[in-house]
Amino acid sequence: MEVCLKIKAINGFKDILPEEVATWQKIETTARDIFRRFGLQEIRLPILEKTELFARSIGEATDIVEKEMYTFVDKGITLRPEATASLLRAYIENGLHVKQPVQRLFTIGPMFRHERPQKGRQRQFHQIDIEVIGALEPEIDAELMALGQMLLNELGLTVSLEVNSLGCPKCRPDFRTKLVAYLQERTESLCEDCKRRTTTNPLRVLDCKKRNCQQLVQDAPSILDSLCADCNLHFTAVQKQLDSLGVDYSLNKFMVRGLDYYTRTTFEFLTEDLGSQAAVAAGGRYDGLIEQLGGPKNMPGIGFAMGMERLALLLQQQDNIIQPQRSDVYVAALGKQALEFCAPIVHQLRKQGVRAAMDYSNRSLKAQMKQAGRVNARFALIIGDQELEDQQGVVRNMDDKKQIQFPLHEPAEETAAQLSTLLRLE
Ligand code: ATP
Ligand code: MG
Repeated sequence: MEVCLKIKAINGFKDILPEEVATWQKIETTARDIFRRFGLQEIRLPILEKTELFARSIGEATDIVEKEMYTFVDKGITLRPEATASLLRAYIENGLHVKQPVQRLFTIGPMFRHERPQKGRQRQFHQIDIEVIGALEPEIDAELMALGQMLLNELGLTVSLEVNSLGCPKCRPDFRTKLVAYLQERTESLCEDCKRRTTTNPLRVLDCKKRNCQQLVQDAPSILDSLCADCNLHFTAVQKQLDSLGVDYSLNKFMVRGLDYYTRTTFEFLTEDLGSQAAVAAGGRYDGLIEQLGGPKNMPGIGFAMGMERLALLLQQQDNIIQPQRSDVYVAALGKQALEFCAPIVHQLRKQGVRAAMDYSNRSLKAQMKQAGRVNARFALIIGDQELEDQQGVVRNMDDKKQIQFPLHEPAEETAAQLSTLLRLE
């Protein structure tokens, strides 16, 4: 006989199993609740976009565009590696700025990057992405960081916040020249990637993960010393506002982020509990990007994305596994007649909003009680031939095992109504 080989998921693509889903839902519900408080609106976006959208926004010389994108070359389309570009495309295409000058938006969904899979790093991963478009004020930057911190805290996670400013097209070229000069004098000691980056994307050298490069940039010129007057003012105001909102942070002059579109404020929320996958959320300002994508001129924006896999791992690691909801009642029908009697009761219970479970296998009481345990039912209703004859079922409290008689009625709707009342009272 032919042997059928099992088909496995693609490397870096993962199933989120039923026992994990409660944790994911907790992350999503907490996020949605906070977004409501901050007046953010949801937007849902396509997963495929024209490749050019990402090349033009994220930047040709970035890791993402150079080597991590899933592209259908013949069709010129790409699975989105991040959400900002798609969200801005939608913003521009639908003229959202006309309807509302400041848009506060969020979106949740899968992203795709061809990276080396590790714990907390996958090829399909999920982000919660938040963007505020149309506001230049530094208070917005601080408000977004405060939002991120509130969300992480309400999930029970301890993380640190690092902040930097990358300046603007006015001050960055000058910094870039200084940095390139510094790197070129030391090019021998740089890793191969950074040798190349010195000309293609020198700022990236600042956050190279290789120890040699890290040591070498310790004394490199700091972007914070090169900020123009406007950027300086903006960044000082961001910090002041963080202080007055009571948000803890530290400055990290080496944080440059892996996407070219950032200007001014950038920030990352970091954890020490996920090895080298330290960033749980990251983002920043992108004041020139909307115009660069064909949108209205001088339209500023800022946003950040949280990695949901990393949040879920942290929650699970902190023994914070969220239990799935319990069933209210498991109906154990013993015998063919009881099965026929019970199925409509279960249906009516569900109609009345009760989480009711039953199976039709007609197995022993012991086997069915085991099943009641698996669905973590609070109560069991037990009905066999004798109970049918006496018009009395048995309700068992599955926690303390206490049992009471429960009168059965016709039609099923009536029994269900009586039972729902009883379950609510217990
Ligand atoms: P990293 O430095 O870890 O590669 P990044 O700077 O590439 O992160 P962003 O593009 O800013 O990440 O995405 C924001 C967040 O999305 C990250 O902080 C992280 O939590 C999550 N994230 C990014 N890439 C992945 C991935 N491949 N797998 C799982 N989560 C990811
Ligand atoms: Mg990355």
